[in-house]
Amino acid sequence: MSSRRRFLHQAAVSALAFSFVPLLSPARSRHTAPVLRVAIMGLGSYGTRVADAMLGCTRARLTGLISGTPAKLQAWRAKYTIPEKNCYNYQTFDQIKNNPDIDAVYVITPNALHHDQVIRVAAAGKHVICEKPMALNPTQAQEMIDACRKANVKLLVGYRMHFEPHTLEVIRQRQHGAFGKILFFQGLSGFRIGDPSQWRLNPQLSGGGSMMDIGIYSVNGARYMIGEDPIWVTAQETKTDPVRFKPGIEETIQFQMGFPGGAVASCLSTYNLNFLDKFFLDGADGFAELQPATNYGPIQGRTDKGPLNQPVVTHQTVQMDQMAGILLDGATPVVPVDGQEALKDLKIIEAIYAAAKTGNKVPVQL
Ligand code: NAD
Repeated sequence: MSSRRRFLHQAAVSALAFSFVPLLSPARSRHTAPVLRVAIMGLGSYGTRVADAMLGCTRARLTGLISGTPAKLQAWRAKYTIPEKNCYNYQTFDQIKNNPDIDAVYVITPNALHHDQVIRVAAAGKHVICEKPMALNPTQAQEMIDACRKANVKLLVGYRMHFEPHTLEVIRQRQHGAFGKILFFQGLSGFRIGDPSQWRLNPQLSGGGSMMDIGIYSVNGARYMIGEDPIWVTAQETKTDPVRFKPGIEETIQFQMGFPGGAVASCLSTYNLNFLDKFFLDGADGFAELQPATNYGPIQGRTDKGPLNQPVVTHQTVQMDQMAGILLDGATPVVPVDGQEALKDLKIIEAIYAAAKTGNKVPVQL
């Protein structure tokens, strides 16, 4: 990015970050607010996206790195100006405990590693941000929550859509009754997965197939769009390519969820179809539609009253600025991004897997 483009980008993002401050509770001047100093663990594709987005943050800054690949550490150190003393590998990162330059660690590694890594970060006395899915199952997630509580550190999960302006506008309108009684939600989450050797297709590292990776957006989205948690699920699995999608890696799951207010959700999670990224919320008095609903944007949407014209933001920039407010100021987001929120999604996914296996309607208790 040229310095002029970077300046314009940062100016735009700063203006947006400022306009977002009222979403969070404490009234505090942006100019005096402390900055969250973050180490990223796992310098892969999403870690790179987060690091680049943090260049536009006003309240969060990349100050540390954790990687098993010395060459990556060297390249990232140069790119993001990180001192060597703030760099660790997977054997040494417990020493982060003694590093005053790091307030929080953002865990962006394959799903199966999150559990142990989050618990080790907590034991080192640092706040943790963990990517979704937070863990492989609810038991692991509960252990992570307990470890963070015991260590007196906060645990957040990278639910970036919880800070996205179009999404928040639909939630605001629904809370104000714009759509009337909510009756139906449709969530379509999928893409056609590439490289067959990637960890997402290895159940030991991923913990599952499309549900754990992309279907989780429809699970979580149904909850924030409807504004309730489900009480039952049903599900059906379809596998058209058993060579590519081995046992433990589901290709496509259709699932339905029932909500206490009477709404039902009908969702699709797949690794075998492109162009599936849509949320539709239907109420007695109106509707809202987001398409794309959860990709990196620009998110687009409309309601029965017309198009949604919220600002287009870099999701991870806004997310990290807002998470700084949560971790440093005790601010409260509109939709939670804590471990309990992620535990709920994992309980629902566990019920969906059980329903797909048995064909039964499975009750959900969150
Ligand atoms: P990736 O494969 O691009 O990166 C993973 C990183 O972990 C790599 O740098 C790899 O070297 C490192 N790693 C450490 N130990 C490893 C091991 N034992 N096996 C394999 N890799 C190991 O993956 P990614 O797309 O960056 O995904 C990482 C996490 O981020 C996942 O949990 C994923 O679900 C999540 N993610 C979230 C979003 C989002 O929008 N919130 C988007 C993409 C990925």
